[in-house]
Amino acid sequence: MLKNDQLDRWDRENFFHPSTHLAQFARGEAPSRVIQTGKDCHITDRDGNELLDAFAGLYCVNVGYGRPEIAEAIAEQAKELAYYHAYVGHGTEASITLAKMVLDRAPDHMSKVYFGLSGSDANETNIKLVWYYNNILGRPEKKKIISRWRGYHGSGLMTGSLTGLHLFHKKFDLPLEQVIHTEAPYYYRRENTDMTEEDFVGHCVYELEQLIEREGADTIAAFIGEPALGTGGLVPPPAGYWEAIQKVLEKHDILLIADEVVTGFGRLGSMFGSDHYGIKPDLITIAKGLTSAYAPLSGSIVSDKMWKVLEQGTDENGPIGHGWTYSAHPIGAAAGIANLKLIDDLNLVQNAGTVGAHFKAALKAEVGDHAHVGEVRGEGLLCAVEFVKDPETRTFFDPSEGIGAKLAGALLSEGVIARAMPQGDILGFAPPFCLTEAQADEIATKLGRAVRSVLG
Ligand code: PMP
Repeated sequence: MLKNDQLDRWDRENFFHPSTHLAQFARGEAPSRVIQTGKDCHITDRDGNELLDAFAGLYCVNVGYGRPEIAEAIAEQAKELAYYHAYVGHGTEASITLAKMVLDRAPDHMSKVYFGLSGSDANETNIKLVWYYNNILGRPEKKKIISRWRGYHGSGLMTGSLTGLHLFHKKFDLPLEQVIHTEAPYYYRRENTDMTEEDFVGHCVYELEQLIEREGADTIAAFIGEPALGTGGLVPPPAGYWEAIQKVLEKHDILLIADEVVTGFGRLGSMFGSDHYGIKPDLITIAKGLTSAYAPLSGSIVSDKMWKVLEQGTDENGPIGHGWTYSAHPIGAAAGIANLKLIDDLNLVQNAGTVGAHFKAALKAEVGDHAHVGEVRGEGLLCAVEFVKDPETRTFFDPSEGIGAKLAGALLSEGVIARAMPQGDILGFAPPFCLTEAQADEIATKLGRAVRSVLG
């Protein structure tokens, strides 16, 4: 085993970390944290510190760490057949079985699943399918995509453009011109505090309709949204939001892409966020929870309505010109099968719902009345605490104070990992679904101590 100081040097000299302050890291001013092992909701770093991972990696290790069932399925598949491609009708038993398992769980009107590697590439696939669809239908002008400010859809060229967070655009010449953004369904941050939730939904609808009118419905192909906002602040939508938005989209013949990379396979306490909120999407993006991140695998689930047109397109134009070398990788598929079985066998979707409700109540009881807590919110095991200078006026702390990062640091010293979300002073919690109520209470109690130590 390498010595810690050597590993640290190699890390800083050679490794280009994603979403990291490059200069500070190279100078040794930002921590290098090397994780060694994981079991259930805990991970252990190289120095032997055991931490309760209340963000499940990047809200992806949904069944928890160290599941031998998935590790064994991966090893068996690797020994039998580590790889074969899926082009021109090829497949493996694992990829075909997983496609069936995904469709069995997806909303009824979905028809096929295309497998990729990451949430970003699955969203790239979805946008290409939307464009292909409209070209086949003979409407080449209908191409723009509406996304929401604060939405997160990946960090590729198109998906980074869809992402409605400035950090992901700045200095990358994004967003691309085909992408337009609309209001986020973020009730807490509504401009006019007199608005009821219902008024606010009306306002989101108005903003969307205005955008469609300005741009022209015949230039707009699709609307993409996470059932509940993730990276943009972990925000469940106000009641009635999806129903109202879908009405507008239907009226203008605009397709709906539900990005379920975070919400798919149980995080909200329902198998899909689309089931949870009555969304009827034309495409669903899946990734993280599909394999609980034991291997990289994502998917684009295509509705009957779109599939019929895509098929027709290939009759006219030959095979679809879209594929990755690693589409439907058998090792990822084997991990996916074992993962979905575990979710069923251990009743983890239901657990995410019940423990999630307990967790939100515990967070509210512990910090809900604190002088700098603006809102405690959540659905299932996707919860957040938003900190503000003054809850009356919802004023932000000065970003230079780095309150969110300080709070995450204080909680880490208590042995709990939460995520300081990239915009605003928001601590995000999205633990593995095997979290117990006792662990939920432990996180809440430790958060209380961390908050008091940073904010008094
Ligand atoms: N969509 C959503 C909703 C996500 O949260 C993420 C990742 N956090 C992505 C897409 C992109 O997934 P990936 O990082 O695997 O490309």
